[in-house]
Amino acid sequence: MTPLINFRIIESESTFLDPRKGFSPATIRFQVRYDPLTGRTCHFSHFGAIRSQKLDLSRYHHADVKGFCPFCPEKREKATPRFSPDVVPEGRLARGEALLVPNLFPYDIHSGVAIMTDDHVVPLSGFTGDRLRDAISLGIDFLRNIADLDPSLPYHLMTWNYMPPSGGGLVHPHQQYFATAFPGNQFMDELAASKRFSHEHNQNYWHSLVNLEAEKGERYICQKGRGHWLAPFTSLGLLGEIMCVFPGVFSIRDLTDADMDDLVYGLLRVFRFYEESGIFSFNASLSLGPAGQDHFCSFFRIVPRTFLNMRDFAPDLNFFQAVLSEPVCVVLPEDLCRDIKPYFNNQ
Ligand SMILES: [Zn+2]
Repeated sequence: MTPLINFRIIESESTFLDPRKGFSPATIRFQVRYDPLTGRTCHFSHFGAIRSQKLDLSRYHHADVKGFCPFCPEKREKATPRFSPDVVPEGRLARGEALLVPNLFPYDIHSGVAIMTDDHVVPLSGFTGDRLRDAISLGIDFLRNIADLDPSLPYHLMTWNYMPPSGGGLVHPHQQYFATAFPGNQFMDELAASKRFSHEHNQNYWHSLVNLEAEKGERYICQKGRGHWLAPFTSLGLLGEIMCVFPGVFSIRDLTDADMDDLVYGLLRVFRFYEESGIFSFNASLSLGPAGQDHFCSFFRIVPRTFLNMRDFAPDLNFFQAVLSEPVCVVLPEDLCRDIKPYFNNQ
């Protein structure tokens, strides 16, 4: 049977006279890929030309760089807000080192920040399973409560900026948890396309995707519990994207503690891979769809971020992402999958 999911690649090339080679002709290949769900395009070019830059984390301890951090333990009580009693009677929620407080700069009606650690600067190796599990389970519990409290906000998100190249305003590790009616264009496009696919093919896209990727193998990393780790066919990140799809999870109601353990299991391995690849920063999200539907499955995605150089701290986003809404990626997903797979297989 022909797969219903179409992995479409347009291969192309550009030829010019290369000054580095005495102006002899040079031909550079690139690709445009279509996201098999949304149909959005993604450029793959500059292969290997951009590398993650090393961040000097010790710098962030210096008083002049650190500035005021409301998330450090000695400042939290006075500097972070409390939830109103009808939302969180305790005011703030705590688990292990994690503390969940309202966002002083809310993204929506119910917007929480999980301060993940007591330490102000935490390298990727400092994220233990306990630290990750405590923060994620605390944030998800908060969202579950909000889902009961306010069913008019159908979408639930965890988002995470880690370290300054990601756009994070504070280096102190923290994640955002919010319930919203407006989860962003990417989310809404994926939701609408999932519904369309289900309607047209009488199949769940995400179920078909993980089955097909597992069968093909070239972008499929592994299955852990109900989570399927893969390098998606198109990438939202310049240095590639890793995704974990939970085909059994449609809304926050379906996400179990075991799913969160499996997410942590994979994250620890992604972090180990990042560390050994010299990656110091990322953006990540966990998307949870509305209750009462069976076409949009939950997934986690993570993309590395970097400054292009440490001379003038040029960001890794340019006109493509800023004004053309086009992702650009310098790593082929198949290569990324090959490189990260040993980190999942060897333990
Ligand atoms: Zn701090």
